[in-house]
Amino acid sequence: MTSKTPSPAEQIRQLRETLNDWSYRYYVLDEPAVPDAEYDRGFRRLQALEEKHPDLVSPDSPTQRVGDQPLDAFQQVRHRVPMLSLSNAFSDDELRDFDQRIHERLDVREKVVYVAEPKLDGLAVSLLYENGELVRGATRGDGETGEDITANVRTIKSIPLRLRGDNPPSVLEVRGEVVMPHSGFQELNRRQQQAEQKTFANPRNAAAGSLRQLDPRITAARPLEFYAYSLAQLEGEPWPDTHSAILKRLRALNLRVNPEIKNCQGIEALLAFYHDILERRDRLDYDIDGVVYKVDRMDWQRDLGFVSRAPRWAIAHKFPAQEELTVLNEVDWQVGRTGALTPVAKLEPVQVGGVTVSNATLHNIDEIRRLDIRIGDTVVVYRAGDVIPKVVRAVPERRPKDAREIHLPDQCPVCGSEILRADDGVVARCTGGLICGAQRREAIKHFASRRAMDIDGLGEKLVDALVDRNLIDNVADLYRLKAEDVAGLERMGEKSADNLIQALENSKKNSLSRFLFALGILQIGEETAKALADSFGDLQSIRRAPLLLFLEVPDVGVEVAKAIAAFFAEEHNETVIDGLLKAGVEPQSPGQPAAAFVKRFSLASMLRAAKRLGMDLEGIGEKTLESVGRHYGSWPELLKALQAKTSETAPGIKAGTLDKIAAALDKGDWRPRLEQAWEQAETLRSRAPEDQAGRPLDGQTWVLTGTLSRLTRDQAKAHLESLGAKVAGSVSKKTARVVAGEAAGSKLDKARDLDVSILDEDAFVHFLNGHGISVS
Ligand code: NAD
Repeated sequence: MTSKTPSPAEQIRQLRETLNDWSYRYYVLDEPAVPDAEYDRGFRRLQALEEKHPDLVSPDSPTQRVGDQPLDAFQQVRHRVPMLSLSNAFSDDELRDFDQRIHERLDVREKVVYVAEPKLDGLAVSLLYENGELVRGATRGDGETGEDITANVRTIKSIPLRLRGDNPPSVLEVRGEVVMPHSGFQELNRRQQQAEQKTFANPRNAAAGSLRQLDPRITAARPLEFYAYSLAQLEGEPWPDTHSAILKRLRALNLRVNPEIKNCQGIEALLAFYHDILERRDRLDYDIDGVVYKVDRMDWQRDLGFVSRAPRWAIAHKFPAQEELTVLNEVDWQVGRTGALTPVAKLEPVQVGGVTVSNATLHNIDEIRRLDIRIGDTVVVYRAGDVIPKVVRAVPERRPKDAREIHLPDQCPVCGSEILRADDGVVARCTGGLICGAQRREAIKHFASRRAMDIDGLGEKLVDALVDRNLIDNVADLYRLKAEDVAGLERMGEKSADNLIQALENSKKNSLSRFLFALGILQIGEETAKALADSFGDLQSIRRAPLLLFLEVPDVGVEVAKAIAAFFAEEHNETVIDGLLKAGVEPQSPGQPAAAFVKRFSLASMLRAAKRLGMDLEGIGEKTLESVGRHYGSWPELLKALQAKTSETAPGIKAGTLDKIAAALDKGDWRPRLEQAWEQAETLRSRAPEDQAGRPLDGQTWVLTGTLSRLTRDQAKAHLESLGAKVAGSVSKKTARVVAGEAAGSKLDKARDLDVSILDEDAFVHFLNGHGISVS
């Protein structure tokens, strides 16, 4: 069968059906199926077809009707004066045509005065006042019949319950728009999300949904505002002659009128108004989707009259749509500063808000799942102002059969390193760290920063210049720089270049904890870096340590342990560290694991760590693990017992526990992992000092004062701490020793007064050397 174009009658039928369905979802359910621009296109197609085939026009066509049926849940209100819609102009030319038609119909040559008003994107409401008192509020509904929402409108603060002044009109029906301001909208959606309730697609839907609540207490809790824009009935006083005079009267009666409204004479003034407010659109606190122009003179309005669903004396000049439909062709993953991966939607180019959009953000993988967006989907793209366009949702009805699910890549698209995803977090990150091109610059900047390697003179701009000129690729390259490479860059003189090289040289002997912090390992702040350095005692042990052992370090939890292990497991990072060591970087460390650290290792602690990392020891509690650990004492003993399949039980160990452990060991690679962790633990144990012997200064408090020339204050402090001392800021009787450099001041005096032992720089360096810390 060959497909042929449907007949005009069939096209019209289909279009009406689709538009009616969309209207129902928009007006009645407050859940639009497609962006307004898509609805408007369909509407115009239908209008064009009906114009060509007038015999096919029927009164129930969307082109002849306004809105949709009012909801049965509300009392119905018949409007004495119908609430109409507006004709639209989508371009300057269409607006010129409108102005032309006005001139022709009125048969006037002079420039017509119009009132230009922002077209508020909310919900049309009619308010009826009798003798100054608010007696009824109603929605537009289908234009003839609306919903009675009196109780709800009474909760809106900008709607007066009583008109102002001693002589209010006996009857006044005012019309206007109820809108939700942006600030309130965001807050409302945040609250809804927290309460796990439906969030709203945009402020218009939120306003409509809030106003049409059966329980006015809900409306009262929603941030709604009202702006009046026309008068439908007036009794007890004469009608003003112009629309602008009506607005003035409404204002005097305490009905809020939008402050942007202006009188404009002639088409050029209208266009100027339009372009000015379009430019300011994003700075207003409420949504507007265009400008409405109304002929000011009321007698002319009466002369012009109405067409089926809109007045002839007014037109809505629409802004470029902020929401559009397009196809999601692909998803690219971008790597940010900290390695965080963000999905970027590659779109079929589409005009949104006046510019062509082909990239948009998709936030993160969880958001993609929540919205069920797939590659190939038709999606709604939103763009406002300078904000990055975003994909708001997919249109499931238009999903092609071959739409593909979106997956987080296993490897970094920039450097190929493994991607790590925090169990509880939404962020996925590249573990490439130092080697990942995207992260490199930031990694180098962090490495050089004051709290890390503290390389004086190596600021952000210089790092950028060095990377741009391919002088450095990673942090290890810094130590290969020569003064002549940097002189001339970023206004660097010869002297500063020399100073930089010297600063790099000095940084080589920083403490291990600074070095670890400088590597920029995810989740590793200064404190954790220090705990790691103190516990393991040297860099090599940390590099070799299995994940299980990191959990034995004070304050290191599962996520942090995983991040450390992932960093060192990445070959690239290892290469960079080797490069640093080869270049002469020599992180200063105690050289031995801390006694307190190795004391923590036990069979029970190892099993506990494995359980935290996911070994299936479900149902075996802390106490039982403790008993197993105590009873068998070591990993080899436990293995033996497991192999012997003994049914022996010991105090505190329930029957079946060993079977469960054996089964858990066989799931995944827990056996070799525990084996390796135990071996490493044994090695560390054997290297640890007999209790406190490796920390000769334990319990002592030292004070540093004056300037040291061979090492920085921080380095001196780190060395002392690695020997067990506490370094304090002031001298007291309890101070064990004071190290006094050049130009030491009052602290030195106080030390002398209190008879505290004092070391000058030479003696201090000698002391450090004597404890295995090399300072030349
Ligand atoms: P309209 O919104 O284009 O214009 C009429 C309305 O403008 C009035 O009812 C009034 O509420 C409002 N308005 C705002 N400021 C005004 C002012 N200063 N003076 C006078 N009126 C002012 O027309 P409509 O008939 O309400 O609805 C059509 C609109 O609804 C279109 O934008 C269409 O895209 C959208 N719609 C969308 C869908 C969808 O599925 N996305 C479905 C149906 C309708």
